[in-house]
Amino acid sequence: MTTSGISVDMDRLAESYIKLVLSVGLHDSDYVDAYYGPPQLKAEAESEKLSLEAIKESAAALINQARMLTPARNDEMPQLRHRYVIRQVESLIARVELLQGKKFSFDEEAQALYDAQPPSYPEDHFKAIIKELGALLPGQGAVPPRYDSYKADFIIPKEKLDAVFQAAVSESRARTKRRIQLPDEESFVIEYVTGKSWSGYNWYKGNSHSLIQINTDLPIYIDRAVDLASHEGYPGHHVYNALLERHLVRERKWMEFTVYALFSPQSLIAEGTANFGIDMAFPGAERVAFEREVLFRAAGIDGTRAGEYYRIHELVMRLNYAGNEAARGYLDGTLTREQAAEWLINYALMSPERAMQRTRFFDQYRSYVINYNLGQDLVKQYIESKGGTADKPDKRWEEFTRLLSSPRLPSGLTKA
Ligand SMILES: [Zn+2]
Repeated sequence: MTTSGISVDMDRLAESYIKLVLSVGLHDSDYVDAYYGPPQLKAEAESEKLSLEAIKESAAALINQARMLTPARNDEMPQLRHRYVIRQVESLIARVELLQGKKFSFDEEAQALYDAQPPSYPEDHFKAIIKELGALLPGQGAVPPRYDSYKADFIIPKEKLDAVFQAAVSESRARTKRRIQLPDEESFVIEYVTGKSWSGYNWYKGNSHSLIQINTDLPIYIDRAVDLASHEGYPGHHVYNALLERHLVRERKWMEFTVYALFSPQSLIAEGTANFGIDMAFPGAERVAFEREVLFRAAGIDGTRAGEYYRIHELVMRLNYAGNEAARGYLDGTLTREQAAEWLINYALMSPERAMQRTRFFDQYRSYVINYNLGQDLVKQYIESKGGTADKPDKRWEEFTRLLSSPRLPSGLTKA
């Protein structure tokens, strides 16, 4: 058996890459989202404890070494791997510079860290959607408080949260398993937590196992059950990580995939596929039927209102990019925290409490916000450009699964 030179060299660079990511993690506690590779590399990173400047130098050297390697032209996967490692390290350098105090504009940061350019929408764009909503919602006057009181009927009572989530998870799992061959041993546990800036989080532990945390600081509305079950679980983050582990780490021995750098291009793919995955598992009318018959009942909410609720929900989802505008303004310094929260209340229709929680998310995760909506849009465009349109579910799942099992970069989604 022979191994080609490039793959040996890439394997060596993969170890340096892992150590670099773990080294940044020693300066930035949010940076390492998951690591299940050799414990010895972690021990080495900890004992060396490189300064930010030294990390930057090693990262630049790694890029130079990688650029000297040329992967075979006839095989896409090694090419994707090669490009991926270089781009991830470029992003790592940008994160280190940010930690060193370098100023990036929101758009520069998004490009440097996530390999993508977020679009920008004028206020009028959101005003038009708000106006449409105003015509659908009961009552008179300003839309944000009307939406808030409308939604009050759709809160999952605390004592029913777990039953509702478990029902959503088991349906998401069943629907995903019909389409994707999952490892037999895959599993996750759900934990309810408080005091976080996010609403849910998937912590991947390796061996096809995840810990999913759900933040109960604020009321949880019925739409969050399927969203979180699919986004964090099936076919979202949990499945994505399990497929990377199976296909890239175990089958190909590409060890760099045992580490997941949060502020990196990989996150746009992760969040984009997780959000797109909601609609994969529960396309349109199927979701409403499942909500009406199962989840609304489990939550003690009137199921006959499911159709109406999701018509409104769909419009509200179109306000999604309003959050990016608030983040851009806040991080670029054109909006204060209060003004950013105000924007979120008016154009993203968040309650005042959720809007403040969201500004704390901006503090902690910054331009990461683009990964959810832009990620979802780019993933959708990519899969559809491959022929995986909504009317061809087999092809859609096939392309989706392939994307979840390969190291494709955000910029590689648009030039497919
Ligand atoms: Zn996520």
